[in-house]
Amino acid sequence: MFRGRAQAMGAVAATALVAATPALSAPRPPGLKPAVDSVEAGLWDLMDKAEREARQKAELNTDAALNAYVRDVICKVATEYCGDVRLYVMDRPFFNATMAPNGYSEVWSGLLLRCEDESELALVLSHEVTHFSENHSIEAHEADKRRRNATMVVAMGIAVVGTVAAAGSANPQSAQSIMDATSSLIDVVYLASISSYFRFSREHETEADIVGLRRMAAAGYSPQAGGTLWRGLIAETTTSDFKRVREQDTRLGIFDSHPLSPLRAEALDAEAAKLPAPTRVAANRHRAAIRPFLAAWLKDDLRRRDFGQTLHTIDRLSKAKEDLGVLNFYRGEALRQRGKAGDLANAALAYQAATEQADAPPAAWRELGEARRRTGDAAGAKAALATYLSRAPEADDAWMVRETLDALSKGD
Ligand SMILES: [Zn+2]
Repeated sequence: MFRGRAQAMGAVAATALVAATPALSAPRPPGLKPAVDSVEAGLWDLMDKAEREARQKAELNTDAALNAYVRDVICKVATEYCGDVRLYVMDRPFFNATMAPNGYSEVWSGLLLRCEDESELALVLSHEVTHFSENHSIEAHEADKRRRNATMVVAMGIAVVGTVAAAGSANPQSAQSIMDATSSLIDVVYLASISSYFRFSREHETEADIVGLRRMAAAGYSPQAGGTLWRGLIAETTTSDFKRVREQDTRLGIFDSHPLSPLRAEALDAEAAKLPAPTRVAANRHRAAIRPFLAAWLKDDLRRRDFGQTLHTIDRLSKAKEDLGVLNFYRGEALRQRGKAGDLANAALAYQAATEQADAPPAAWRELGEARRRTGDAAGAKAALATYLSRAPEADDAWMVRETLDALSKGD
């Protein structure tokens, strides 16, 4: 997966996994179905159940165009396994993707928001396809089973749920930060129970990185995307508002235990240098695909209350010089909500910049007016609020804005 094994696992389960050094075996055949009473069949049953639950989740994004785009990219890198993949896009503001041995695959919006182009998305999906094609889940499951009987493996999944629900007893730093970041956003207990089945060894992660990079390059994507994406994520971690995130050895995703080290980026760069130049250098299809969701996903991102990371993400998205109305509005929102010294003045500048763009949401004028009012610029506030009302006369809060305008006029 594009995060490692569950960090929130209890100490006993974690210890049991340390010794796992799986032998790398031949790739699976496409269209594989496990024998009825095989080890794989048990794992597939669990994943089928998880998949049924995923289909019922409120965060499931069912937009046809977005799903078609992500599915197209995964099929380009999955090639012979395309028919095995069942993809679910989830509106969850974290960087994560998974692919289970039964073909059930999740891609989260926080990841889509952070990929700068199609090649970066292809890299992540190719990494996931490699875990799938090389049977990593099954090997990890068999390694577990060699030490435990099947009943205990299932019990371990339940224990993980208990551990995370207890928030911090097993691994205070990890579990607590997961709870802080996600408690109001997503079903943490559900996620922890799923993530326990996506634990891969360092050997598996390295293989997924390198074989995945070759796979996406063979599909015509830029292999340089590996190092670029990795370094972008490392840079984002250093901007976190939370000390424990900055000091967390730079980890991917919310359950990851594998360091997102510069060494991993360097290994990807070294491999990329051996691979052919990309043949797919079309216009940025990725941005076009995520554009309709930028506002909703940035709003979700702000709910994590990690303004440094959100601002960093907005900076990266702004480099393309597109969608600057929406991006500057959310830059203003991040600054306003953070509220440190100087943030309000900078938020006003960001809202101002947003209003100069054709794609500015009406709320940019409301927030600009509010920021001006709070800094004593009554005339500027009135102009911005009046523009808001002219652009969104039916808004739910229009009456409140009219009252503010009246009050400002009386103050003249
Ligand atoms: Zn992985």
